[in-house]
Amino acid sequence: MKGIRFLLLLLTALVLPSLCQAAPAYLNNNQVLMLPLRQTFETLGYTVHWFDGSIQLGREEDKVIFQYDRESYLHQDQVKPFAVLPRMMNSTIYVSQCFVEEVASFTREKKETDGEQFKLVLKNDNSSGHPGSRHTLQGELFHPYTYADHAVQKVPVLMYHMVDDPARYRGIGHYIRYLVHPDQFRAQLRWLRENGYHAVTLQDLYAHRHRGKPLPENPVILTFDDGYACAYQHALPELLRYDMVGTFFVCSENMDGKRYLSAEMLVEMHEKGMEIGSHSMTHPNLAKISLEQAAKEITQSKADLEALIGGEVQFFSYPYGAFNPAIQHLVKKSGYLGAVTTSMGYATMQEDMMKMNRVFIGYFDDLEQFAEKVGAVAH
Ligand SMILES: [Zn+2]
Repeated sequence: MKGIRFLLLLLTALVLPSLCQAAPAYLNNNQVLMLPLRQTFETLGYTVHWFDGSIQLGREEDKVIFQYDRESYLHQDQVKPFAVLPRMMNSTIYVSQCFVEEVASFTREKKETDGEQFKLVLKNDNSSGHPGSRHTLQGELFHPYTYADHAVQKVPVLMYHMVDDPARYRGIGHYIRYLVHPDQFRAQLRWLRENGYHAVTLQDLYAHRHRGKPLPENPVILTFDDGYACAYQHALPELLRYDMVGTFFVCSENMDGKRYLSAEMLVEMHEKGMEIGSHSMTHPNLAKISLEQAAKEITQSKADLEALIGGEVQFFSYPYGAFNPAIQHLVKKSGYLGAVTTSMGYATMQEDMMKMNRVFIGYFDDLEQFAEKVGAVAH
């Protein structure tokens, strides 16, 4: 009897690793599952080779070549951009679950994560592979980012407006300063990533200040005012690609789906991990209208946006950066945890979270100036 039990144990030990994958994975800032490249592709029947400084994944006729520090990969003779960039950690390369699904022609049947463990069931739908075959990837989740063990004193809260090609706007004149080109934006995100910055939300900052929740090293907050549709078209995909979150301040009455975001776009942005804040209902100068009207702009926009996204809207951005003590009091009384201004500077832990400074980023900021604006905060 003992012998049989031992044999069973031995068999289980031998068979299980070939069914499951034990290497840990992690969820990135946008809750995308990041899987270890080698173990994942070997489980799916690929060979994995380092090849001339890059990595080659092969399965029968199918070949994928990429370099983990490049922003695109070569698949079936086509150069394709990564939707989420791979990341190297502890000498292991992690790729996104969507990359695995796309490259290996698998569709997801099941995905379960509980903060500690993950389980992913993939079904092959590629006729050149093994159609119908299923693979289960499962293992532990780890926390990928290192957190500062001290209180963070200053955080740069970047202020963007439009992320779009100025050629689309005729007669934009001096308003061009409120716009950054998508290429410029991408270069800025790349700079932040390469220099070890981690995007966090205003909620993270609040929790750090009030509850001592640790922030990652070199935190940065990216905010976008006015809720332009280009936030969805250009800012969102780049943020996802670089594993970053953004905070979008939207006017609840401006959501036309043309110049501004539509309700559907906003819901999707929230679902993909972005933080949604209020920028009032109609973008008035709150200091110049009656307090009664101002109160409605502040409270109704919060209620409407919360109903729309099915989540909390906890931060406010003063339209035109205009506020006075009465307006500030109204914002606080309406249940917001904090508000941002257009005053240039870094958000500090000393100041009232009802009037946080920001760092303006616009068309005329080249990468050097951008780095200076963000990096001047430093360490
Ligand atoms: Zn505005």
